[in-house]
Amino acid sequence: MTAGDGPTETELLIVGGGPGGYVAAIRAAQLGVDTTLVEKDAFGGTCLNYGCIPSKALISGADVAHEAGDAEHMGIYADPAVDLTGMVEWKDGVVTRLTRGVESLCESEGVDLIEGTATFTGEHAARVDRDEGDPAEIEFEHAVVATGSRPITVPGFEFDGERILSSKDALSLESVPDRLLVVGAGYIGMELSTVYAKLGADVTVVEMLDEALPTYEDDVAKLVRERAEDLGVDFHFGEAAQEWEAADEGAVVYTEDEDGGRTAFEADRTLVAVGRQAVTDGLGLDALGLEPDENGFLETDDRGRTDLEHVFAVGDVAGEPMLAHTAMVEGEVAAEVVAGEPAALDHQAIPAAVFTDPEVGTVGMTEAEAEEAGFDPIVGEMPMRASGRAMTLDERDGFVRVVADAETEFLLGAQVVAPEASELIAELALAVEMGATLEDVAGTIHTHPTLSEAVREAVLDATGDAVHTQ
Ligand SMILES: Cc1cc2nc3c(=O)[nH]c(=O)nc-3n(C[C@H](O)[C@H](O)[C@H](O)COP(=O)(O)OP(=O)(O)OC[C@H]3O[C@@H](n4cnc5c(N)ncnc54)[C@H](O)[C@@H]3O)c2cc1C
Repeated sequence: MTAGDGPTETELLIVGGGPGGYVAAIRAAQLGVDTTLVEKDAFGGTCLNYGCIPSKALISGADVAHEAGDAEHMGIYADPAVDLTGMVEWKDGVVTRLTRGVESLCESEGVDLIEGTATFTGEHAARVDRDEGDPAEIEFEHAVVATGSRPITVPGFEFDGERILSSKDALSLESVPDRLLVVGAGYIGMELSTVYAKLGADVTVVEMLDEALPTYEDDVAKLVRERAEDLGVDFHFGEAAQEWEAADEGAVVYTEDEDGGRTAFEADRTLVAVGRQAVTDGLGLDALGLEPDENGFLETDDRGRTDLEHVFAVGDVAGEPMLAHTAMVEGEVAAEVVAGEPAALDHQAIPAAVFTDPEVGTVGMTEAEAEEAGFDPIVGEMPMRASGRAMTLDERDGFVRVVADAETEFLLGAQVVAPEASELIAELALAVEMGATLEDVAGTIHTHPTLSEAVREAVLDATGDAVHTQ
């Protein structure tokens, strides 16, 4: 790490070393921009250290244990014992390899890395407070704010890492809790509920709204919720967490429904996963001359530019969709604009994935959104139960759905609930991004036997030409 005294002048100052910040730094340096990247906690940000990567590592570990112990119908008899400490150590190893990779990539591109907390002190100036040594004063020409997000807390449910857990805490437990209560059935709550249910915990989920994954279409959310129920997850909808009190082995959490009815839930550990908020406080934005919106996010144009010509914001701090791949692309775009390139971001084809069981992958418009946007949508669907590959994977639930414009047959969007939906959605994202028609996808020969054949079959279904489904 080249912390040193840090430069006193830089062309581009990037605050935050998550996927938004480090990708912006690498791209800017590649384009010859003199770049300084400041990170106060861990390079790789939430994504590599406390988010995407560690959660997916635990999901994989839980899958191995669950599948091995649930395969008697395939002639496999096993009773796996889970040592969560061992699994967490393995996960930490994955994280360490990746975060070191980020640092060495930045260094080999010539990015100046500084460990410390950056605060803007003027329109072109910032101070970086470091654990050791004097603060560094930095003058910059351009800045990228990439300070990410943090979990929202329910008032009264401050995280203590013991009874009340954040998602970060839940990724580093020493043992599987007997009883886990999850507050919030969004994607983080659902992914972690699935992990712990597969590892043998008794999982209860309380959610204020009336379905899991509330931002997804009803049938998508229902399928994921039903499969979680098959794993033993107990859902209570229309319940808002109000307060909690310590009990011998954890906590009693009190919830309230909309009629004021109170319910008590007892659990050893309670994970609160009710959303994330931008990290913009304490950043000295006023000295810079920027004001976040009422939710704390920085508004940007399609180049990542804020109200100030020389200041960009990328990733979670710039608002929805709060996804690592969006952060990375926004980082690339901001870096290219700083370097004088004609770059801009098109938000139309940003895919999203939920790593539940089965997984969910979405891109572009749903049928309802297409209607709302004035299209006359046609929809094609292929159920996974008709997929030979899904059967050989011992998976039958889910579907691939495509939405196209009836007149032009341009693909507008897709929703996939299936094993490997996070991978399947990539083909559909490419199709939407390229302005592919149904015929383009139907005319693409897909390998047999694969899950991706379901994409072609769904497209054929949209025009009434399906072969393997009726
Ligand atoms: C449990 C979990 C699972 C997730 N799974 C997925 C997934 O599967 N796929 C996906 O796309 N997204 C996922 N996400 C979301 C993803 O992690 C974020 O969208 C992504 O990390 C945003 O990147 P970012 O660069 O904007 O911010 P971050 O990754 O949050 O990085 C911001 C960095 O800025 C630093 N920082 C903040 N203030 C300062 C300061 N003043 N000075 C210096 N440094 C500062 C922080 O320490 C942090 O390292 C998940 C998130 C969580 C919590």
